[in-house]
Amino acid sequence: MSLRVLSVASECVPLVKTGGLADVAGALPHALAPEGVAITTLLPAYPKVLAALPDAVPLRRFEDLFGGPARLLRGQAAGLDVLALDAPHLYDRPGNPYLSPQGGEWGDNAIRFAALGAVAALVAREGAGGAPGFDLLHAHDWQAGLAPAYLRFGAGARRVPSVFTVHNLAFQGKFDPAIFPRLGLPPQAMSTDGIEYYGAIGYLKAGLWYADRITTVSPTYAAEIRTPEAGMGLDGLLRGRGGALSGILNGLDTRDWDPATDADLPAAFSAVDVAPRAANKRALQERMGLHPDPGALLFGFVGRLAWQKGVDLVLGALPAVLGADAQLALLGTGEWGLEEGCRGAAWANQGRVGAQIGFDEGLARLFYAGADVILVPSRFEPSGLAQLCALRYGALPLVAHVGGLADSVIDANEMALAAGIGTGLHFSPVTREMLESAIGRAAQLWRDKPAWARLQVNAMATDVSWRRSAAAYAALFRDTAAHAG
Ligand code: ADP
Repeated sequence: MSLRVLSVASECVPLVKTGGLADVAGALPHALAPEGVAITTLLPAYPKVLAALPDAVPLRRFEDLFGGPARLLRGQAAGLDVLALDAPHLYDRPGNPYLSPQGGEWGDNAIRFAALGAVAALVAREGAGGAPGFDLLHAHDWQAGLAPAYLRFGAGARRVPSVFTVHNLAFQGKFDPAIFPRLGLPPQAMSTDGIEYYGAIGYLKAGLWYADRITTVSPTYAAEIRTPEAGMGLDGLLRGRGGALSGILNGLDTRDWDPATDADLPAAFSAVDVAPRAANKRALQERMGLHPDPGALLFGFVGRLAWQKGVDLVLGALPAVLGADAQLALLGTGEWGLEEGCRGAAWANQGRVGAQIGFDEGLARLFYAGADVILVPSRFEPSGLAQLCALRYGALPLVAHVGGLADSVIDANEMALAAGIGTGLHFSPVTREMLESAIGRAAQLWRDKPAWARLQVNAMATDVSWRRSAAAYAALFRDTAAHAG
């Protein structure tokens, strides 16, 4: 019999997205269906969500949900079973889910996401529209962090277990403790052994504290966040709950990301017929104003231009790239100083460095399908998609040995080469010097054409789909449900 799971998140592809959380929330229902897990997704009814659910039907009404009337609607979109919390006083606004059009955070975010958590707990316990309650609640990130707390203190004998998933520990949902009386939680919840967090109220902390199990998006990130360096103030709690914490790597939608069918590529190719890939490299060199030299090792970088992503290290390592007679293509958008740095590098090294500032998914796909190496020198990376796209499209990922990057790429060291199992290159610690050294290793490997071809085939043969991770979530859900009580 299928396990019925209520997933609660603030974002879900394709209805509403600001970050990777939306990709995971949108992918898991499809990936887990073959595992016998039926997921219903509860979302705030932002205008975009309502627009995507034209046939939604009301299941339940709330006369006063944190200051206004609300309805719970049920609809289907893109193969997802969706419950939308239609509370116009909380969610019917322009701007993105968290920010006003002027860019500031909505002043009542604490209440907006308390409502989401409270309704999630209620629906998980009681069900909706005549359907029974759920077997398990899966809450994502701080916006859903109060759901496990409301479950713990809710009325009724039925105990619904919960799993809380952290997509990025940097976003913590910290609020003024003065709002506590409005949350409807009992006084004992406002303590260090509860939702209190350094004198404030922490929604992420609440999820970490009250959920039966905690997951994050890669095994290495799950280990890193237990340390003071990466724990962002929560490492003590995470060490204390270490037995309940695990990491499950994110997957890639391999139907959408397929070099054999990708309409954005001039030439289709696959692991068994890599030769046409050369036409994509030529096209990428042309688009980026690089010399059309098939023999030049082409490094690419695609990503947010932010400190986390280490593009400053790439710019610092430029002499190593140029010294190896290689080329560099940069695609990204973000901090002004980094954008200027990319533009400046291209201007000073015409024909050998190219930069495009902006967000362009078609061009990103050409990067993965045309570059020889994709650089991912992130200072921290909970899971990471860029390296999975690179593997799938036959560009060797050269990655910092952190988080999901460490878990998804096999370094082509001596032993891996001897065993024929490498898929990319690692460097550690995350410094310019170590990046330069890895760039040197890549240049050396590039000269050994049979070794390179082998690594490329290995990369493309890597299973970057959701298959393994879906099985891991299903096993975790079943285990959590079996041990609840
Ligand atoms: P994060 O979510 O932290 O930004 P990820 O590696 O998890 O990083 O996901 C980033 C995704 O967004 C990748 O698929 C990458 O190709 C894509 N991306 C990032 N910047 C750009 C850009 N400027 N243009 C097109 N795609 C981009």
